[in-house]
Amino acid sequence: MTTQKTKISVPLLDLKAQYQNIKSEIMSAVESIFESQYFILGKEGVALEEALAPYCDTKFAIGCASGSDALLIALMAIDIKPGDEVITTPFTFFATGGSVSRLGAKPVFVDIDPDTFNIDPKLIEEKITSRTRAIIPVHLFGQCAEMNEILEIANRHNLVVIEDAAQAIGSEYYGKRAGSMGLIGCLSFFPSKNLGAAGDAGMMLTSDPDLAEKLRVLRVHGGKPKYYYRMLGVNSRLDELQATVLKVKFNHLESWTKARQENASRYDKLFADYKLIEQVKLPKVLSYCRHIFHQYTICVSDRDQLMKHLKDNDIGTEVYYPLSLHQQDCFAYLGQLAGSLPKSEQAANQVLSLPIYPELTLEQQDYVVSTIAKFYAQK
Ligand SMILES: *Cc1c(COP(=O)(O)O)cnc(C)c1O
Repeated sequence: MTTQKTKISVPLLDLKAQYQNIKSEIMSAVESIFESQYFILGKEGVALEEALAPYCDTKFAIGCASGSDALLIALMAIDIKPGDEVITTPFTFFATGGSVSRLGAKPVFVDIDPDTFNIDPKLIEEKITSRTRAIIPVHLFGQCAEMNEILEIANRHNLVVIEDAAQAIGSEYYGKRAGSMGLIGCLSFFPSKNLGAAGDAGMMLTSDPDLAEKLRVLRVHGGKPKYYYRMLGVNSRLDELQATVLKVKFNHLESWTKARQENASRYDKLFADYKLIEQVKLPKVLSYCRHIFHQYTICVSDRDQLMKHLKDNDIGTEVYYPLSLHQQDCFAYLGQLAGSLPKSEQAANQVLSLPIYPELTLEQQDYVVSTIAKFYAQK
């Protein structure tokens, strides 16, 4: 008998593997929604909110249609208006800055700490003006930004802090959960996030009862009671099909998070074993943080070549993010020239996110790192 060596391939994310493990649970949950024919703002959505608020250490959780909407509605709830300025990081998904601009306000980008890719609190204060209203730190890749410093600056200048926790569900900073430290925390359940829906969905977190009520009203056009409008809101609900899928998946979230963390440690060890520590800068985990590894992101100087080499060997990787927000065409009017936020620009040229999903096998991880080792051996 001949043993044929099966070719290994490693996708960046394998949602089919996840689905195979929970298929029957998901399908019976989905079927019960169809049987009920009740699709918008029902008991599944409420049950999900009641499960997620305590998990995130907040009193309230309010579902909405996406993480982008969570940010937008959060900013509407604190009355962000044209002319206001909101400080945030340029090294993030577009929605963080986009939500500010959508309300006619000005995003003010502050450079990052290159070791964590999160906003550098030391650089915030020099960007505060009389028009500054809020700070949006992003907990990028699953590790929290330096919230103690950020909250201290915000308090001193009377600014609101809205956490973009889209990549950070269950992440902790000195024992505090992501989304619970600012006035409002925003989650995304985009399918590729650690807790992913079967479509778009998002959530807002807060412990302020009046604000929670306002967020609830804003997501239904601002109507309360129904068909009476005292404020202008949007149509942004987390529907029952998404809620029921998320409820099923939420029961697995802790074990998935642990698997991601174990995969991250295995990568760290493999990179050391293959003697790649000189060429590859590994993700830095702060001792006081619980990193949930939404992404395992390395930095390399020859990123595009390495990415191509990995692709040629059936390994999926991605660049989050290839262009800093201050350099996007739609933000050109801000007049932030190339070179003005050098750490963010350098990260955009060097980052590469590797497969880190929970179902990843040791064999696959070894293949990823040995393929990287081959790339450097050939150079
Ligand atoms: C995914 C993401 C969002 C937006 O979430 P959507 O649900 O896709 O709208 C916002 N900010 C960050 C940092 C994200 O990663």
